[in-house]
Amino acid sequence: MACLLCDSDLSQAPALALGPLPPCNRFGEAGAERQPLTAVQCPHCALVQLAQLPPLDWLRPRHAWIRYNEPSAHLPAVAARLRAHCAPATRVLGVGPFEGPLHAALDWATERASVAAPGDGYLEAWQARLNAPGAGQAELVTCRYLLEHSHDPRAALRGLASLLAPDGRLYLEVPDSSKFLAAGDISFLWEEHSCYFTEATLRRLAAAAGLTVQALWRYPGALEDALCVLLAPGAATAAAEDPEEFSRFGAYRAAYPVQRAAYAQALAGQRCAVFGAGHQAILFIHAFGLSEQIAYVVDDAPDKAGSTIPGSTIPILPSASLAADSALDICLLAIGPAVIDKLAHVFDPLRARGVRVHTLFPGAGSGTLIDP
Ligand SMILES: [Zn+2]
Repeated sequence: MACLLCDSDLSQAPALALGPLPPCNRFGEAGAERQPLTAVQCPHCALVQLAQLPPLDWLRPRHAWIRYNEPSAHLPAVAARLRAHCAPATRVLGVGPFEGPLHAALDWATERASVAAPGDGYLEAWQARLNAPGAGQAELVTCRYLLEHSHDPRAALRGLASLLAPDGRLYLEVPDSSKFLAAGDISFLWEEHSCYFTEATLRRLAAAAGLTVQALWRYPGALEDALCVLLAPGAATAAAEDPEEFSRFGAYRAAYPVQRAAYAQALAGQRCAVFGAGHQAILFIHAFGLSEQIAYVVDDAPDKAGSTIPGSTIPILPSASLAADSALDICLLAIGPAVIDKLAHVFDPLRARGVRVHTLFPGAGSGTLIDP
């Protein structure tokens, strides 16, 4: 397999194999087909990426209600910066399902347009659509939280750039992977994310696609920052080296078997529930081989209630189940720190009766079950 960014041979590159895993969107399918999930780092350009791109039909959600939330609190600040950097645009084009809130925040009295949704299918279909060349007419093209799903990110950037009018600008937003890689958080790997960008690798990709970085803004998140980049067609300069790029992934790979053994030991003979049925929780359960150790997963989302965790028979129960479960020993939280704070009324009573309540996320700063 060749690097998605620079075409280097990845066959000898350091890899982190999590084994064959079910797709995290296949709720209610205990027997969902599994595919190998292996992350690898290119020894040349440092992009962390999936070693094998999963088949698109395997990624396609089988439930119409599968829709993801992306961060939006920073969008007024992004809009102000875009207004300062770009001439007032007469045509702004959004590509993907996450553009509405940004365009509303921009509030330019201009023509706003969106590329049409690609039929049935979701982000796996959107990412394939990015590669298609377009008729360059837009002064500003925006595309949030799709590039990391792309199976051909250079072609995706070229396709997006082909939508630009002369002197147009391309605004992209991706999650920055450096925090979860540094924290050793395996649960942030995901079959839907083929690329795990950092500032350095995003700059390298832009250069490889013939685009120059006009501005790069970072908006901090508790577990992942938002990387926001404004690009223009034209010769790019090489990205600066990030001295930690290679050591970070080396430590990340080395942490996995240690964490896997520690969870197996910590959960043996214990009754354990997981709070939150998002893709991180599902990846965690399967990557650590814990589908026999988790009694149930709690989630109050109406579409998930009463279903089961993909690739398992673990039931998804309402949060009231925790208070009624007097035998519970451990509750692992697969939700962000801000949500945990809001749900103190749920978790404080559990702690008061001796249940060990811990975040799943090593980067959350509050200690996981397996921390010494
Ligand atoms: Zn590479």
